[in-house]
Amino acid sequence: MSNQQLTELEPLMPTYNRFPIAIAKGKESFVWDSNGKRYLDYTSGIAVCNLGHVPDEVKEKVELQLNDLWHCSNLYHIPQQKKLAALLVEKSCCDQVFFCSSGAEANEAAIKLARKYSQTIKQQKAFEIVTFSRSFHGRTLAALSATAQDKIKTGFAPFIDGFRYLPYNDFESIDQLQNGKTCAVLLELVQGEGGVIPADQEWIEKLAATCKKEGILLMADEIQTGIGRTGTFFAYEQYGIEPDVITLAKGLGSGFPIGAVLAKAEAAKAFDPGSHGSTFGGNPLAAAAGIATLEAIEQYEVLKTAQENGKYLKDRLEALQDKYSCHIQSVRGKGLLLGLVTTSDAVNIVNQAREKQVLILTAGQNVVRILPPLTTDRSEIDMFISVMEEIFANLEA
Ligand SMILES: *Cc1c(COP(=O)(O)O)cnc(C)c1O
Repeated sequence: MSNQQLTELEPLMPTYNRFPIAIAKGKESFVWDSNGKRYLDYTSGIAVCNLGHVPDEVKEKVELQLNDLWHCSNLYHIPQQKKLAALLVEKSCCDQVFFCSSGAEANEAAIKLARKYSQTIKQQKAFEIVTFSRSFHGRTLAALSATAQDKIKTGFAPFIDGFRYLPYNDFESIDQLQNGKTCAVLLELVQGEGGVIPADQEWIEKLAATCKKEGILLMADEIQTGIGRTGTFFAYEQYGIEPDVITLAKGLGSGFPIGAVLAKAEAAKAFDPGSHGSTFGGNPLAAAAGIATLEAIEQYEVLKTAQENGKYLKDRLEALQDKYSCHIQSVRGKGLLLGLVTTSDAVNIVNQAREKQVLILTAGQNVVRILPPLTTDRSEIDMFISVMEEIFANLEA
C-alpha cells in the first residue's frame, strides 16, 4: 500500500471501541472533556484512580521525585522501590515483591514464578496452572492463555501450553484440581471484566484447603480488586485465606504505571539473580507514586471511607432494584467494585449515563460496572443514583 493511501488511515490502531469524548482534565471524582463538559467519573480509569484524579498527596511526592531522578536501572539499588516493597509486605501475607509496569506483566511474572518454583525448588515436573471460566488475566500471550474467555482470544492461537480451566465458584470441580501436573491456581476473588462476580466463601475455603493439601500455589490476581477497591486493602482478607502469590497493578500508582508480584518467602525462593527482570519495573518515579498512594490510603483512612461508601452505594442500588425490578436483576460485588445485572442492554445504559454526564462501564453484555473513586462521598453517590433512576424510569416508559 502506498504512503498516500496510508495517510488516509487513522494513526491509531483500532484496538478500542472508544466512547465519543476525549478527557482533558480530572480532579477528584470528576473529569472534564475537551469541550469543558464535566462528568462524574465512576470508572476511575478502570479501577486505577482509586484516590480520585490527580490526588494532591501523590502529585506532591511525584513532583519531588521528578526533580531528583526519573529512571535508574535495576542494576542499582533503588531505595524508593525497597520502601514500597516493605510497605506491601507489611500490608500483606507475603514476604517479598517484584516490580513491573502493568497487570499482564505481573501475571506473567507470577506464572514464571510458579513454574520455576515447581521445577527448581520442588524438583517436580508439574507445570500446569489452573484458571477459571470468565477470568481475565491480561493481554500478553501467557496472560491471555491463562484467560478463559474465547472472545478476546480469537486469532491469536497457538496459546501457551500448561493452562487448564475449571468452572468458577463450582464446588465439585475442585476435586479435579490435582491431576499430577498442577503447580498453581490463578484466580480473581471478584471477577472484574468477567461480570463482577465475587467468589463464594465456601468455594474459596475448599479451594485454598485443597491447594495447601496438594502443594499447589494459590495465586490471587488482585490487579482490579487490590488497593482498597473491595473495602479492604486486598480482597483476600475478607475470605480469611492467605494466597502464596498476589499480583497487583491498576490502583497501585494512582495512574502511574506500576505492577507488582508479591510472594510468600517459600515461593519467592524460585527467583534468583537473572531469573526475571524489567527495565521500567519499580523505577524511582513509579515507586514514588506507589509509596504516596499507600501512605495516603493510611493517612486519610481511605479503606474506612471505601467501606462506608460501598455500603451506602450498594444499599441505594438495591433500593433502585426494588423499584425497577423488571430492569435490574441483581446488584453484586464488594466494596466499590459493583455490578448491576440488567435485563436490558448494558451498553445502552452506559451511553445514556454519559449523555447525562456520568461515566460508568460494562462487564459483559448485561452487567453495568460501577467503579467510583474510593474517596467519593454521599452527595456524589446521590447524584449518581438520581441519574441512574432517570435512566431506568425512561426505560420503563
Ligand atoms: C486489568 C486487569 C489485568 C491486566 O492488567 P493490564 O495492566 O491491563 O495488563 C489483569 N487481571 C485483572 C484481574 C485485571 O482487572
